[in-house]
Amino acid sequence: MLQHFSNNEYIPYNELLAFYPWETIGFSSEERAIVSASIGSGKRNICIWAGMHGNESTGIHIILKLLSEFQMKSGLADDFKLHVIPVINPDAYVRYTRRNGMGMDLNRDFRAFQTIESAKLIGWIRSIQPELCFNLHDQRSIFHVNGISAFTSLLVPSSEKSQAITLTRRTLMNRLGNALNQIDYDLAGVGRYSDEYYPTAVGDYLMSQNIPNILIESGVSYGDMFRNKAREFGTEVILKTLIAKDEDCEVYDTLPLNQKGQLEWVITDLLYANMRVDVSLKRVEAMNGHIKASIYIVDDLGDLASRPRLFEMDGKDLVLSEALIVDRPVTADFGSVVFEDGKIIAGQLKE
Ligand SMILES: [Zn+2]
Repeated sequence: MLQHFSNNEYIPYNELLAFYPWETIGFSSEERAIVSASIGSGKRNICIWAGMHGNESTGIHIILKLLSEFQMKSGLADDFKLHVIPVINPDAYVRYTRRNGMGMDLNRDFRAFQTIESAKLIGWIRSIQPELCFNLHDQRSIFHVNGISAFTSLLVPSSEKSQAITLTRRTLMNRLGNALNQIDYDLAGVGRYSDEYYPTAVGDYLMSQNIPNILIESGVSYGDMFRNKAREFGTEVILKTLIAKDEDCEVYDTLPLNQKGQLEWVITDLLYANMRVDVSLKRVEAMNGHIKASIYIVDDLGDLASRPRLFEMDGKDLVLSEALIVDRPVTADFGSVVFEDGKIIAGQLKE
């Protein structure tokens, strides 16, 4: 039985490889194993991959959860066969970066197929000929839907520049809508991603080849900076979409488009260089050796009143003496929490 993770913790790649009897299907540009698994005895093939961007790891946990669901629920496994790749870009995953070992963004390489990893993924999908694919990513904390943090965004991609609703696309929109109807979640905070056509992105390319696929972008929400809610929801979306009908349904169509501009932590009205300003901080994650570390950087300062935010602190009694430089690690004493070079050295931030 698969190890259960209660949180979206970072799993070192060598440990991930040891959790499950994966099959090695190829190697990355730096010769790390790219692995897959297939589970279920059904005739309906489904492909799911994650880790295309190495700093987006929620999808890996969704895949592990689905494998354990399939180990337990024989009903689904009788009808479907799941094919998964937990990390298609392992060189990026070990560095916790977006781009692969050659500095390429895989999700801009699905026309030229110059990277070994994108070529591997498309070959794997074509060999399986799935009825449906799920493409798992994490989205940045800037996204919100009408002021509510977008904890998940969904997309049935366009298959051409005109963004036309082709039959394949309409059928999948219906199926996803029917699945959302069956999910026991408040959909406030679920957004729809822009369907602008990106010919080099995997989802759009697959749609252009008439291979139906859904993009699931896991995001943060209030009290959940580590995307655990998104993990649970994303898993449910997949399980419910598998069994959903494709009769007419507009639930997906009526999801609000996600919007940019959300801030993480905002300290309001503090005195800085003889000005009253709002200061926003955001958390950035990076690898420190083999350990994933978080640092906090200055995201913005000025009048931020119109921007949605996840957390707010009243700063009217604070006077800052250290310089605030946007995009640099924060050094500042905010009273209840003190930072030095981006690290918290006293107190804590509300999460
Ligand atoms: Zn991504």
